Amino acid sequence: MHVSFYGATREVTGSFHTITTDHDTILLDCGLFQGRRKEAEEKNHVLPVSPKILTNIVLSHAHIDHSGRLPLVTWKDFNGRIFCTRATAHACEYLLEDSAKIQEGDASYLNYKTAKHFLAKLKTGNGKKKVSKDELRDIKSLLKSGAHRLKTEAIEKLLRKHQLEIVNPLYTMEMADESLEYFRGVPYEHPVTIGHDLTCTFYDAGHILGSAMSVIQYSGGSKTKTVLYSGDVGRFNKPIIEDPTLIFAEEHRDIDLMIMESTYGNRVHDPVVDMKPLLKKVLDETFDRGGSVIIPSFAYGRTQELLYFLHELYIANEVKRVPVYVDSPLATKITNVFGEHPETFDEDTHEAFLERGMNPFQFEELKFVQSVEESMALNRDTSPHIVLAGSGMCEGGRVLHHLRHKIHDDRNTVLIVGYMGQNTFGRLLQNKGEKYEADGRSGPPPKVRFYNKEYPLNARVVTLGGFSAHGDKNELTRVLKESNLRIKQLVLVHGEEEQSLAFSKYLKGEGFDVTVPYHGQSIDV
Ligand SMILES: [Zn+2]
Repeated sequence: MHVSFYGATREVTGSFHTITTDHDTILLDCGLFQGRRKEAEEKNHVLPVSPKILTNIVLSHAHIDHSGRLPLVTWKDFNGRIFCTRATAHACEYLLEDSAKIQEGDASYLNYKTAKHFLAKLKTGNGKKKVSKDELRDIKSLLKSGAHRLKTEAIEKLLRKHQLEIVNPLYTMEMADESLEYFRGVPYEHPVTIGHDLTCTFYDAGHILGSAMSVIQYSGGSKTKTVLYSGDVGRFNKPIIEDPTLIFAEEHRDIDLMIMESTYGNRVHDPVVDMKPLLKKVLDETFDRGGSVIIPSFAYGRTQELLYFLHELYIANEVKRVPVYVDSPLATKITNVFGEHPETFDEDTHEAFLERGMNPFQFEELKFVQSVEESMALNRDTSPHIVLAGSGMCEGGRVLHHLRHKIHDDRNTVLIVGYMGQNTFGRLLQNKGEKYEADGRSGPPPKVRFYNKEYPLNARVVTLGGFSAHGDKNELTRVLKESNLRIKQLVLVHGEEEQSLAFSKYLKGEGFDVTVPYHGQSIDV
């Protein structure tokens, strides 16, 4: 059998690996590349293998950098199934639709910009085209600011008429919906047949609700070959979900090749146990100033962890019980998914909430904001509150409106609880805010620009790093060394090059046989 790597090699997004036997090709994850638009777009449009040759797909978890290209694979010529845990299948119902909505929105925005550029040329008379006064008026009204999302079709018609380039979304809502038909959710630790003499067994990866390490075993011929794909590996002692698995079934202990993530292969996080007191400190300080806390938050996982901690702090009366708002339709849906999968919760969650007849994600002060009108009213609310809103990296979504209304006020806090990618607005806020803080807040506040306007960043910017969903160097090492696995060969994926290489060097020193593959590299097992 051989294993090939076509995504998340020396980078963190676009997970896409294949296992090929004499009879089958199995795809491990089918993730979207994220990052700089142009580069990501080019990578996303090309599928490294034809869906026709794939027997089945094994999906480690629902995050878009692992699942986000599934609609491209299932749209044409794919006859297999997507195997994953039940919670992952459930979460994908919302995440893939949301991803399609973003793809469609991005394409419509680019088309709008092309049309706008065309209009500008017409107005100045620089273009070769000439149009009548009536038509110019129609185009102007079509491109009135804020209207383009509603007028996608009319704009495309205009572009076609004048032979201008039209950008199509990577995939549509229809394609995302179609992909959902292929999902087969299976329980943890139940082997399922995924090919000729080929089985897959999921073990909890402790990364996110439903996340799995997949043991893929080929028992054709005289020898058994076993590959373990870690997917993303979580932290130990995280709230809600179980820890990463350390004890595997006897028949799954001998691993010929382990494909391991290495996002934080060269970094050590704050311990999870310290997060609640740190969160309390930030809340106390903000409420003492009479301010509010804005938390740019990822819909899947981070939002629910924060709600869990807030609920615990509220039950113990450890902080002022101000209203808590989840202002994200996606986060609201995903919170419901969590509520429907208590079988994946850890013992602490059962003891602290379920056995006492409580839902960790329901409490008196917690409100899920639904309509845009409610969200806008909350923007203007100056009484102390906590709001969790997307997008997580502040690249769009309702959080920008909360920031717009609140970052000028030094009573407020922007609480960063997730990784902010390079070149994102979230990273900019984080860098400028923390620098101003480090300089003792002397001099005028830094300025940040969004929505075509400059805003003074007076609000405090605080980062609580321990909320990471990825295990750090010590936790990844713990899975390798303290589990009952016997690993022959190790491959590191899903890490920036410097993280993967540093981790590789460390693990080689610990006696492991480690490879950090390049894109397209294959390894025989
Ligand atoms: Zn993930």
